Amino acid sequence: MVGIVSTVPGPVLVHLYVRPRLRTAGSRLLVRGWLAITIGTTIVSWRRLAPGELAHELTHVRQWRRYGRVGYVVRYAASSMRAWSRGMDWYRDNTFERAARRAALEEMGSPRGPNDG
Ligand SMILES: [Zn+2]
Repeated sequence: MVGIVSTVPGPVLVHLYVRPRLRTAGSRLLVRGWLAITIGTTIVSWRRLAPGELAHELTHVRQWRRYGRVGYVVRYAASSMRAWSRGMDWYRDNTFERAARRAALEEMGSPRGPNDG
């Protein structure tokens, strides 16, 4: 699936791939219980995403665009290290993930909801 995202400043072509076979491998290689991963403007998930989940991943697209490939990876890793060094969860307490979860909650129109996407 390919679509134009208008919520990002300036239209950007986003590629969305749904690959059910990656569910198991992703849990081993990424985060246990993963759903999707965004690399640049490419989103890969093992199932179709609900609107809130898509909002989460599109936030990562915006983050990638804002910081660039190296900048995003370095900042994401630094945020995870900072959280981990403070005894927090490297994934859930990562500032990039927190921002993406906020976007998902806003999309769902509720102050409460799933913590992940
Ligand atoms: Zn995320």
